[in-house]
Amino acid sequence: MAVKRILTAPEPVLRQKSKPVGRIDKKIKTLIRDLKDTMKAAEEPKGVGLSASQIGALRQVTVIKRDDQIKPFINPKILSSSKKKLIDTLPKKKRLLEGCLSVPGIWGFVNRPAKVKVSYLTEEGKEKTEELKGREAVCIQHEIDHLNGILFVDRVLRQGGKLYKAEKDEEEGIVLVEIEIE
Ligand code: ZN
Repeated sequence: MAVKRILTAPEPVLRQKSKPVGRIDKKIKTLIRDLKDTMKAAEEPKGVGLSASQIGALRQVTVIKRDDQIKPFINPKILSSSKKKLIDTLPKKKRLLEGCLSVPGIWGFVNRPAKVKVSYLTEEGKEKTEELKGREAVCIQHEIDHLNGILFVDRVLRQGGKLYKAEKDEEEGIVLVEIEIE
């Protein structure tokens, strides 16, 4: 078991592209285990996905929480995306704000395709193609962005969206407050 330190912005490694994995050797298996352990240990906020670059390894490996398991995706690629956007599938109040363990305390809505078809390798080296939707589709897109050196806040700002930070309010507890961007 190895819980690694999660790098946070503006750490330059987070801006670099990850290299594809060739052979799934012992090193890659250890990396997958470290990602799982590190994600499980993250409490504030709780993680639903973690990519290798976030613990300083520039390899195309990411793990995602699915049901009660944490599943690795090696060399994940988006083969196609739905025309339908996430925003068309959600009620207004439930915009599924994204957060990131590398950008702690900040949330924002990224309008992404609602469904994506993804190819990847399993830990056993099997090639798989799968369609992910809803929360899982958001999650894999967010993680693939990490492998390309992109953070969700870049997308929020590019889309002209708003970023929020969590603040303690004496009456209401934790509230989200809009961040003023110059
Ligand atoms: Zn992230």
